[in-house]
Amino acid sequence: MATRTEVAIPRGDELPGHGSTFGAMLEEFNVAARLLKLDPGVWKILTNPKRQIVVSCPVQMDNGEIEVFTGFRVQYNITLGPAKGGIRYHPDVNLDEITALAAWMTWKCAVAHIPFGGGKGGIICDPGKMSKRELEALTRRYIAEIVDAIGPEKDVPAPDVNTNEQIMAWVMDTYSMHVGHTTTSVVTGKPVELGGSMGRREATGRGVMIATREAARHVGIDVTSARVAVQGFGNVGSVSAELLARQGARIVAVTDWKGGVYNDSGIDIAKLLAHVQQHRTVDGFSGGDPLSHDRLFSLDVDVLIPAALENQITMANASVIKARIIIEGANGPTTPDAHRHLHDRGVFIVPDILANSSGVTTSYFEWVQDRYGYFWSEKEVNERLELKMCEAFDDVLQTALKYTVDMRTAAYVVAINRVATVTKMRGMYA
Ligand code: NAD
Repeated sequence: MATRTEVAIPRGDELPGHGSTFGAMLEEFNVAARLLKLDPGVWKILTNPKRQIVVSCPVQMDNGEIEVFTGFRVQYNITLGPAKGGIRYHPDVNLDEITALAAWMTWKCAVAHIPFGGGKGGIICDPGKMSKRELEALTRRYIAEIVDAIGPEKDVPAPDVNTNEQIMAWVMDTYSMHVGHTTTSVVTGKPVELGGSMGRREATGRGVMIATREAARHVGIDVTSARVAVQGFGNVGSVSAELLARQGARIVAVTDWKGGVYNDSGIDIAKLLAHVQQHRTVDGFSGGDPLSHDRLFSLDVDVLIPAALENQITMANASVIKARIIIEGANGPTTPDAHRHLHDRGVFIVPDILANSSGVTTSYFEWVQDRYGYFWSEKEVNERLELKMCEAFDDVLQTALKYTVDMRTAAYVVAINRVATVTKMRGMYA
């Protein structure tokens, strides 16, 4: 007969959701949980979502017809504090993906060492085909449907794919109308005029810059002369490039959805930003040579920053990568097999849940400021962010050295350990 422990510890392929996005999350989780020798009961708790809400949102469209949209809100784990995570509007949103994203938010908040659990929301819709009035009606109806589940002490949404400051303002207003008083701290990523934080727009790129600087120090590369390639020149990629250039790094290559640019002596990022403002792409920039998407990964650089989409670094291109450091600005840019291949080759990879965690850390600052009713200058926000990011980087690095594992596994070890410790302290309510 199997021992109690053998029976109780689930394997990734035995857990619900195996083979799905949630299954991919579980595979990463299980590696770290085994290293930690996680208590079997806690293992079960941490691999099940706390709450999954599915709602129907009827909306009268501009043509007079009624459409019914399906919305989700998942509170994966609220052991450390209110659930935190964005709301995405996309035709492919589904409960499995939202649950996995809510789990990843749980580990990201725990790595960042902020008092939040993990959540995520989404609505199956195609916002590109909807008018502003329809989007507002949909947002308000969705929030009305989940109003009892969210709140500053319960669950604090934020922007994600295809949602923005305006949508967060509607979220805040709808919630406030229901509770009868203005409650700015119910949502983050708001416009600064109604309780948003200074520095939020730049926060994720700033964190990527800090992670790059700390990784370079660890690997023994001088960041002030490092050669850097950046994939994606949106919020995360452009701010990372700008701040790293200010540190003295040479940004030799940038790509986006349309094309790319290469300049061996370093791209003038201010000029590139001006070009993108005008043309909405880096393609055609005169301050360098054209660069194809495929060439970006094979360039002779010290640092590669994927800051665009998921699954960009795969076994199809991992072998050509020459960078010694990869900083995952995007969520999930490296497939697990490519990650293993690169780690075995000695590439130092700073995982997404650490590298881009400054976004949620500054959301935490926004929530704190809203609750205080007292707002910090941009300088104060940036100083606090610097401290939090360096602390998180060091915690993960020391864990990687202690267990002799890669930084991704170490980040999970740090996160799971924090949530598991508090789970045990709080005990079982039954
Ligand atoms: P964004 O929409 O502002 O920018 C995305 C960029 O990627 C654009 O420049 C786009 O042209 C480019 N891109 C699209 N397809 C591409 C392709 N095939 N090749 C190269 N470039 C391509 O988005 P963002 O806010 O910068 O987010 C980027 C990534 O970072 C996403 O994975 C997001 O989930 C993650 N992230 C963002 C934040 C944040 O605060 N914005 C926080 C955490 C994680």
